[in-house]
Amino acid sequence: MPSSEFDQTLVLIKPDALKNSLTGYVLSLLSEFHTGLRFAGAKVVHVTRMLAEEHYAEHRGKVFYPALIDYIMGMFHYPNEPHKRRVIAIVYQGFNAVEEVRSVAGPTDPHVAREQKPGCIRSLGTLVPLRNAQGEEIGRRMDNLIHASATPQEAEREIKLWFKPNEIPPHMRIYAARICEDHFYYKDDRVFAEYIPGSVCLLAPGDVAWETDIQALELILRGQPSAVPLRTVVAKYLTNEICNEC
Ligand code: AMP
Repeated sequence: MPSSEFDQTLVLIKPDALKNSLTGYVLSLLSEFHTGLRFAGAKVVHVTRMLAEEHYAEHRGKVFYPALIDYIMGMFHYPNEPHKRRVIAIVYQGFNAVEEVRSVAGPTDPHVAREQKPGCIRSLGTLVPLRNAQGEEIGRRMDNLIHASATPQEAEREIKLWFKPNEIPPHMRIYAARICEDHFYYKDDRVFAEYIPGSVCLLAPGDVAWETDIQALELILRGQPSAVPLRTVVAKYLTNEICNEC
């Protein structure tokens, strides 16, 4: 697909960058002056386990997966300070957004980044050994400071996972959104059309939601299979709420 000035990508400034006060440095390298990209959305997010698991769904089952989830949730960098566990989520917009950010971010592995692209953001990252119960090294955790969407398709999935449409100015939105006409409540991995005690209202008539999310909720409510998993839809509505998932 040809690039357009409306291309978008998701960046997460991860807990290791926040802990090391590298946020300003990262934002400088990603600034419009360097990348030609503009902010389309930005927020501070306390990452729930549900959001972390949905974001990294493709890595489920890998040896580094449990550490990856704890890392993005801030468990390693703020073990005793839950109030400091957060990431900064940003939608950048502009020509070749995905490639522009990936170029400044550099290779995923900080050692490779230092070798191949000194000066890129991830060249400031670290590798932490992962050990089994016997103390043997079974892999490494890559503390690489930022997440950057890998492809435009991944960017769409990730932006819809982290952001609601109304967190992006209307003229900057590129994915279909519409006004919801129904109530959708959530409890224990199920969707309901009416309030039941203990449920959370995800959407109400008049709310603006991603078209794909509304379609998924309608299908799931009717007991039909949905390409978008329920937790992918739900995770962003439980973001920054007081809830059991936190
Ligand atoms: P990716 O989906 O390739 O962006 O990877 C997501 C994150 O998973 C990376 O930023 C790393 O923190 C971590 N990761 C990816 N591959 C590995 C690996 N082979 N070993 C350890 N961590 C990894």
